[in-house]
Amino acid sequence: AKRMGSGGAVVFQDSLHQTALTALRTEQDMFLAIQRDEFVLHYQPIVATATGATMGFEALVRWKHPERGLIPPLDFISLAEETWMIVTLGRWIMETGIAELATWRDRDLTLAINVSPRQLGSGDFAGAVRAALHRAGIEAPRVTIEVTEGALMDRAAVAQLHELRAIGCRIAIDDFGTGYSSLAYLRHLPIDIIKIDRSFVTPLGSAPGVDRFFDAIVGLARTLDLRIVAEGVETVQQLRSVKAARCDAAQGYLFSKPLGADERQSRYPGSRPV
Ligand code: C2E
Ligand code: CA
Ligand code: CA
Ligand code: CA
Repeated sequence: AKRMGSGGAVVFQDSLHQTALTALRTEQDMFLAIQRDEFVLHYQPIVATATGATMGFEALVRWKHPERGLIPPLDFISLAEETWMIVTLGRWIMETGIAELATWRDRDLTLAINVSPRQLGSGDFAGAVRAALHRAGIEAPRVTIEVTEGALMDRAAVAQLHELRAIGCRIAIDDFGTGYSSLAYLRHLPIDIIKIDRSFVTPLGSAPGVDRFFDAIVGLARTLDLRIVAEGVETVQQLRSVKAARCDAAQGYLFSKPLGADERQSRYPGSRPV
């Protein structure tokens, strides 16, 4: 058993070393990838539950790696955050998204951009958004900044949220219900929209208690004058529950998966490039 134990330790150290090497390589890769333009944004529609109209899209980043193919964000966003690479990558995402929005014919469509806490809290992010909006000729209310509850714990990030709101951008709390903040706490923060996490949407319609809980969250958000988006709607039954709760908007595979820029342009003919 002893021998096996020490052997295990060696293997363990070796794999730690391996992990560090892989992380380092990915960090260097990521740096080069920004310069080589290997990141792309996909766009997923956000639909008004009352009318079925598409109100806007959420930008979701992917890495078009020359050898590894299309890499999903969950495989590189946390590394980008740890290494601060997210500041550079996030700037690219924000500027590319806003430039893309300027090519959409439908001038009412909105764009939601995900921003990580670290990115929000470093440098003058709000100033950079204002400059990008000005360059693209986009009115600020067409842009929503999505942040997770973690961003609300950082004073510099909250200051940026106030700035963004002063410019006229909308602020959404992403993955609502997965963190520790209560709606009562959110009341004092500059927030317009909450996006209820998919984990609350998936079980809708499966048991009465589930729907009652969902209804209560939506009802409370409404008393705070927040708009509510249900994430991860995949079935007609879930949509029925979301509508019954009087959720303002929904997003999910039932409507569409995230689409590449060209596919989005052709699938949404009201919004072809000018
Ligand atoms: P998120 O912001 O909560 O985005 C929603 C995720 O759920 C997306 O995954 C989307 O493709 C997926 N999704 C949408 N509808 C459905 C559905 O009906 N069913 C299921 N099962 N999934 C659905 P994706 O694109 O892989 O992104 C994962 C996460 O990576 C995002 O979660 C977000 O936290 C992060 N991320 C993506 N793009 C960016 C970005 O540009 N910047 C930052 N900072 N983070 C990003
Ligand atoms: Ca999001
Ligand atoms: Ca989310
Ligand atoms: Ca999420």
